[in-house]
Amino acid sequence: MNQNNPLMKFFRQPKIYINLPSRGLYYEQGVLSGNYEQVPIFAMTGMDEIISKTPDALFSGEATARIIESCCPVIKNAKLVPSIDLDTLMVSIRIATFGNKMNFTQTCKNCGTENDYESDLGSIIDHFQNLKYVNSISINDTLTVKIRPLQYEEMNHFSIENFKLQRMLYQTTELADTEKQKVIDKIYQDLSDLQLQLFLTSIESIQTPDAQVTQKEFIEEYLRNCEREIYNQIKNKLEENKEIWSMPKQHVKCASCGTEDHIQIVLDQSNFFA
Ligand SMILES: [Zn+2]
Repeated sequence: MNQNNPLMKFFRQPKIYINLPSRGLYYEQGVLSGNYEQVPIFAMTGMDEIISKTPDALFSGEATARIIESCCPVIKNAKLVPSIDLDTLMVSIRIATFGNKMNFTQTCKNCGTENDYESDLGSIIDHFQNLKYVNSISINDTLTVKIRPLQYEEMNHFSIENFKLQRMLYQTTELADTEKQKVIDKIYQDLSDLQLQLFLTSIESIQTPDAQVTQKEFIEEYLRNCEREIYNQIKNKLEENKEIWSMPKQHVKCASCGTEDHIQIVLDQSNFFA
């Protein structure tokens, strides 16, 4: 930015300040500049809005990353932001740009009425402030597996790969029976490999009574040679964290028949600008 620009004092100013739920942990050197508390959030610019409406950019997470860097300048590389801070960042950018209220529509599962509801996004920010990421798993009181949240880019990679495989699985219904089983077996093999890669990315180290193991090749050999019960223990803990850190559910009641429901608000391209 040119410090001599007389227009500078008319530039956008921070709209709100937030604390990052990660408390600044899990950030690599240089990704977060400054403190995790009282992080200034700016409203989106017109440029941000154009970028975010490019469908391809959205799929790869490119647009989201650029918007985070634009509206939260202390984040220098949004692709490396720990996933547990992402919803808070996106919700706070939505608040800074359009205010606290968000409207959404939900069809009643009982009577089919389309209900309009309103959500206070501020409560979502509060919700994430009090969560804790469980970063260690104790295995039979002998091993300690240290885990970390995925970075934004990693999270995108795994969800895109998973999506592709699930879609392939769905498409096998069109195959001839002779071929079908072979293709399905291969897809399941790829899904289990993908899960192993997800574990390896999430595991930082394994502490034994005598050593701390950080080498990915050793950890991979361990995962391939441990009992299924241990494998599932790691899997469950990773899924538990994912569940804890998902967007909070909102309680709603149908205006027509009174049926109660819980729905999860998802911020995506279709409602972010509404
Ligand atoms: Zn109803």
